[in-house]
Amino acid sequence: MAAGPPAPMEGRVNWQERLEYGFQQRHGGPLEDQNNAPPQQFIMGRWETYAEEERRHAAHQHNLRLQNDAQRQIDHDRETLQHQARMAELQRQREMEALQHQAQQDELQRQQQHQRDMEALEHQNNVAQQQQMDQQAEAERTQEAINNNQALAALPKACRPYHDPTQRFSMGPMSVKCPHCHALHFKSERLTNSSNIRPRFGICCLQGQIQLPPFSEPPQLLRQLLTSSTPRARNFRERIRQYNCAFAFTSVAVKVDEAILNGARAGPYSFKIHGGLYHSMGTLHPQEGRRPSYAQLYIYDEQAALAARNIHNPNLNHALMADLQDMLIANNPLVPLYKQAYQIMQETPPELQDNVRVSIVMQPGDDPRRYNLPTANDVAAIIPGSGEEDVNEHRGIILRHKNGGLKTISHLNLLYSPLHYVMLFPKGDHGWHTKIDIVQPEGGSARSKYVSQRCYYAFRLHPRPMEPSDLFRGGRLFQQYIVDAWASIEQSELNWVRHNQKTIRADLYDGLRDALRGVQGVDLGQMGKRIVLPASHPGSARHMYQLFQDSMAIARHCGKPDIFLTMTANPNWAEVQDNLLPYEPDDDDPDQREKNQTASDRPDIVARVFAQKIKAMLKDIKDGVFGDVHGYVFTVEFQKRGLPHIHLLIFLGDLTRSAMPLMLTPSSPLRSLTLWLIPCCMRPSQSA
Ligand SMILES: [Zn+2]
Repeated sequence: MAAGPPAPMEGRVNWQERLEYGFQQRHGGPLEDQNNAPPQQFIMGRWETYAEEERRHAAHQHNLRLQNDAQRQIDHDRETLQHQARMAELQRQREMEALQHQAQQDELQRQQQHQRDMEALEHQNNVAQQQQMDQQAEAERTQEAINNNQALAALPKACRPYHDPTQRFSMGPMSVKCPHCHALHFKSERLTNSSNIRPRFGICCLQGQIQLPPFSEPPQLLRQLLTSSTPRARNFRERIRQYNCAFAFTSVAVKVDEAILNGARAGPYSFKIHGGLYHSMGTLHPQEGRRPSYAQLYIYDEQAALAARNIHNPNLNHALMADLQDMLIANNPLVPLYKQAYQIMQETPPELQDNVRVSIVMQPGDDPRRYNLPTANDVAAIIPGSGEEDVNEHRGIILRHKNGGLKTISHLNLLYSPLHYVMLFPKGDHGWHTKIDIVQPEGGSARSKYVSQRCYYAFRLHPRPMEPSDLFRGGRLFQQYIVDAWASIEQSELNWVRHNQKTIRADLYDGLRDALRGVQGVDLGQMGKRIVLPASHPGSARHMYQLFQDSMAIARHCGKPDIFLTMTANPNWAEVQDNLLPYEPDDDDPDQREKNQTASDRPDIVARVFAQKIKAMLKDIKDGVFGDVHGYVFTVEFQKRGLPHIHLLIFLGDLTRSAMPLMLTPSSPLRSLTLWLIPCCMRPSQSA
């Protein structure tokens, strides 16, 4: 800008200053100095000057204005340019910022992407690592499981975790027939040297060496009572021992253990005795002042006999008693024999009657299989006499008239059973006697000429389809018959021991000489004759002692026993239940409950099934169900209620024994060992 007075502010011109300033420019001195000119001229000149000044001033003003405008325009333009430049700069900056932002965004995105990529990669690595670890762990687990399985497989079966067996052990049906006697058997009862296809059995008939005639068909009334479900039949079976006793010819002298039977708790019936068992018979004529009983009643008038029986048994069904008496009189051949014997006694002179005796000597006959209804003369010789005759007591029944009291009947007599068990043998079927011939086997010879008592009863106690099953329907009386048979066999064996002391070299045990030698203060009068029961007699003290010594020897050899195992017979075993005989339904009462026998009615079946179960269990044990077994000792006992049970001690081998503590720790699944013990005997054995 040019030098000059400062640009006045628009609209506010200081005129005084302007004037002074313009004057000085034109005249070269201050205004006061001009006052020296002539007044008129001076005034005129002054006006012109002023006008000129005014004009100049206006021009100047105008110029100034123009200059100002131009300047302003220039300024404006410049400012506009500056503004535009600033705007451009701003725009440029904005664009730069946008670019930078974009770049930052890109960078950020790139970084994020990179981060994501890195994370994804890391994740993949992690996943892969985890998978690898999982696979490794899985492989380790698999290996461990394989190892465990191998260890488990090496364990005995009973020591592995217990699982319910898919199927219970079954002996199969009792339907295998003995080829010789047609007795029904379980397959496992066959002889071990016979095959499954052609089984042979020894327990029933010694492979055909024993052939006995079947029992007679019972009278219709008795069969109906034994097979029906009517209340009368059930009542008869409930009291069959009492009914039998009412009609028996002989009485049984035995101490029956009633303690279990009369307890508060009702349980299955079991016939248990103490001491010996004898069948006794009194005189045919009752003593003075005594009521007639047993065989005496058959001599009496029928009505009087029935009345006497009813007086003895007021709790029995009297109508049924009359029917049973008629049945026996009509069917039992012993009734006419007794009557005939009594007749002979009566015919003797009165002075001889006190001592008269009549022997009934049975004749087994040439063919023991022909059991027709016998007449007196067919089967028996009636020998009157005074008792001095040489009659074998085992073959004959000596009847006395009045004197002599009760006499026992030999258990070797063939009438021993039919005289007492009239409800089992109503037609007087002969029992065992000493002269039953054995059938000699082909190409060999039997050990004995005659059938032993034990073999006879074993034959009789096997049911056969073609034989009447009435014996097995006797219930409580059947139990008594079996106990009687056992006692009789025992008695025979004891008698044999008594009469064969030399054979068993009893002098080795001569207690009398020992007493003389060693013990002081022994009253020799009390020593008596000593009968030695050898160790071969089951149940004798020497037998038990020998077993005890044997067990101790096993324990000394094998160490202490490791397992004490008890198995009890279960009356609900399928093999028992399946073979109980059914009763015919009662048409009058279709809702009656009793359809089958109970297990206590068939001790024969229970004992046979239990024996086979023991066999299967011992086979499992020997096959290694508990591992390496070095030995075992067991005893079979019968419970108070009549069911058998076994106590078994097992001696394990050293390896199995050392593993036992591990098997039985509480955390181990093998604590289920005890669970195993009971059903292990039910597992199907390999041979079954
Ligand atoms: Zn047989």
